[in-house]
Amino acid sequence: MAEPKTSELMEKIVSLCKRRGFIFQSSEIYGGLNGFWDYGPLGAELKRNLKECWWRSMTQQRDDVVGLEASIIMHPKIWEASGHTSTFSDLMVDCLLTKKRFRADQIEPQSGMAYFYSGATDQNAGTRSAEPFSVLLPPGKPVESARKVAWHFYHERGVRHPTLLGERAEKAENSTRYNPENGSLLTEPRPFNLMLKTYVGPVESEDNKSYLRPETAQAIFVQFKNVLEVSRQKIPFGICQIGKAFRNEINPRNYTFRSREFEQMELEFFIRPDEAIEAICGSVAQPAGPQPSTLPPSPPASARPRRNEVEAGNPQPNWGWQMWHKYWVEERMAFYERIGLPRNSLVEYWQTPAELAHYARATVDILYKFPFSKRDENGELAGEELEGIAARSDFDLSQHQRFSGKPMTVFDEELKAAWPKLEDAKKAELIESYRGSRLRYLTKTGEAPETAEKQAREEADALTKGYYVPHVIEPSAGVDRLALALICNAYGEDQAPDEKGKLDSRVVMRFHPRIAPIKVAVFPLLKNKPDLVRKAKEVRDLLRPHLTVFYDEAGAIGRRYRRQDEAGTPFGVTIDFETLGEQGPELKDTVTLRDRDSMKQQRVKISELAGLLIEKIR
Ligand code: ATP
Repeated sequence: MAEPKTSELMEKIVSLCKRRGFIFQSSEIYGGLNGFWDYGPLGAELKRNLKECWWRSMTQQRDDVVGLEASIIMHPKIWEASGHTSTFSDLMVDCLLTKKRFRADQIEPQSGMAYFYSGATDQNAGTRSAEPFSVLLPPGKPVESARKVAWHFYHERGVRHPTLLGERAEKAENSTRYNPENGSLLTEPRPFNLMLKTYVGPVESEDNKSYLRPETAQAIFVQFKNVLEVSRQKIPFGICQIGKAFRNEINPRNYTFRSREFEQMELEFFIRPDEAIEAICGSVAQPAGPQPSTLPPSPPASARPRRNEVEAGNPQPNWGWQMWHKYWVEERMAFYERIGLPRNSLVEYWQTPAELAHYARATVDILYKFPFSKRDENGELAGEELEGIAARSDFDLSQHQRFSGKPMTVFDEELKAAWPKLEDAKKAELIESYRGSRLRYLTKTGEAPETAEKQAREEADALTKGYYVPHVIEPSAGVDRLALALICNAYGEDQAPDEKGKLDSRVVMRFHPRIAPIKVAVFPLLKNKPDLVRKAKEVRDLLRPHLTVFYDEAGAIGRRYRRQDEAGTPFGVTIDFETLGEQGPELKDTVTLRDRDSMKQQRVKISELAGLLIEKIR
């Protein structure tokens, strides 16, 4: 079957999500609320499954990661320390005609003829506007279209019957200054803070202003010391959290991809600074392959570095930030494959030095090739971000140490013991390296040079006694984007026989059994045969303690299968007359097990059914 065009495909996916109850528009009966979504019965199960898979693999199946569930609203100082109050903004532009708001970086460059006006006048009414305005028209469009837009612009500004003044035309190349929808000039870009504000308590004063968290990570940093104390962990170890985050996105779009309320799954994995590792282990292991610092500043998409050729393997004591970063990239890629996203649908994108945040040493974005992704110069889907894995140095804990005045240092027994055994030259080298990196951090924070020098020296001295601020690797993923990726990836159309055995097209959601909302559907062949119904209910009750089961007795069996194909249920169990022993004793207490993808059916003993299914969905 030919592949549907991408926009058509997205429309089909959106329609299926509504029809089958994966995703609904929030507040739909009131016309919806832009950037907010609700998950219906199947969507809620899907999201729950994928969060559980993440939680299990990130903490329950590891010794070195523990969980946290923090509040959504936190002390506003946290957002000053993290930099969100001052820098968490996107550049926005408004259409001068319609006031529609866009993110400046999302305006596609356009070429054509720009028509400029110096103002407009209404001689009869004696009104006038001297505000300059311009309109960009695509090549070949008549000047009247520009005049119409300009007419409305001046009309809106109080010139009731405008006569346009000073018209002049100029060619424009790749301009991002115009609204792509109507050609109107946009405002100059200006920053817009994405945090949603609220007030805590009954008084709406500046003192009571707070924010809905724009990410879950900061709570982990501010609870770092508490968790360290109670969890009997030592560096390296991680703290993970799943929870809601809110961003007042200027332009929510691409279905649930960019929402204003969403969920994140974040891990902060705390590690020793490289100087401490070198002191303890003698050297710091380096990953194979090109290092981020050697990357060209802005490679074209086709030449983007993909560094998945070397497996990081099992963690070792001599791993510094580069190995740990690589390890988490590999772990996260493996996770996506385990829940059914094939490697070739993902892109491992290493941010170039020019793209990195000032505190980050390396960041890898894991992209999924959504149907709405842009295409690169080779016509391939470039992919959109599902997760970022950042090596964030000791920036976050240092910031909270500075802003809260509470120490975020840890004491490392092994470092203290190793230090006296080092040669003097090595000691001097490590002290200098550590002092240098602390000085760079302190200088960037705006500390006076003498104070920064003094503090950096003191911190380097503390290192020799076993104290340091841990560094961190942060894999940060979005639950909703991942759910959408899984839905897009699962969507398929093929041919299946109908009730009469004639081939008919079917829509099938090929979710990996691990994350499928319903694992198995149980059907009595006929609804009006009490023995079949009773037996089918017995099978349902047998499976229910172990799996999500859906029982359905309504309609022809073929139609029931189709409904479950659209829901993405990987297995269907049918109780028929053979099950009752009516076709001979050898088939008694066996059922038909149908596989969603191959549509193959096999006979299975009821006593073996639970074990077999559990094995398949594990
Ligand atoms: P983008 O560049 O797409 O805005 P980001 O780099 O700002 O994303 P992060 O701050 O790194 O995103 O957040 C971590 C993860 O949280 C993202 O990889 C994404 O999966 C999810 N996320 C961020 N913003 C949104 C949003 N508006 N809607 C849904 N998920 C989001």
